Amino acid sequence: MVLRSDFSERTCSMARGIGVLGDPWCLLVLRELFYGNGRFAHMRDKLAVADSVLSKRLADLSAEGLITQTPYDDGGRQRWEYSLTDSGADTLPILNAMLLWSEKHLPAPAANAHMTVIHDACGNECSLPDFCTHCGEVLTAENTLWHNYARTAEPAALTGAVRGAAHGAKQ
Ligand SMILES: [Zn+2]
Repeated sequence: MVLRSDFSERTCSMARGIGVLGDPWCLLVLRELFYGNGRFAHMRDKLAVADSVLSKRLADLSAEGLITQTPYDDGGRQRWEYSLTDSGADTLPILNAMLLWSEKHLPAPAANAHMTVIHDACGNECSLPDFCTHCGEVLTAENTLWHNYARTAEPAALTGAVRGAAHGAKQ
């Protein structure tokens, strides 16, 4: 990533993390993979991004070990589907924190421009990024729902670190 090579603060863990995760497109790719939207064309369409931009981010995230790819057959042609590794799945509280901060501090441009984090096991909305503020359970991709009101009518389950399983685009 661009920032990484420019950082002189290599002794700072926060700076190193920002070097990997500080790019907006990378974070949005991770969002799509939590949704199980791991096929290139589906990601490109959802993100409305140029092929070259998406390819670069997928390569960067693969090189950093956050995502992995598995082949699937697309009408006789082999293509690749991306999914999160354990390292990628560990970014869940970072993405949760971004949406919670945005909900708290940024004006919504439309009535449906809202997103919530829901703990699936108890069904409650969470106001902290890493554990359920109702029952205290640690939030993981396996037990967390995101409800993006502009995207889906109902809260959507996250796929987590799929590690080799092929998933089609669900949202
Ligand atoms: Zn809960």
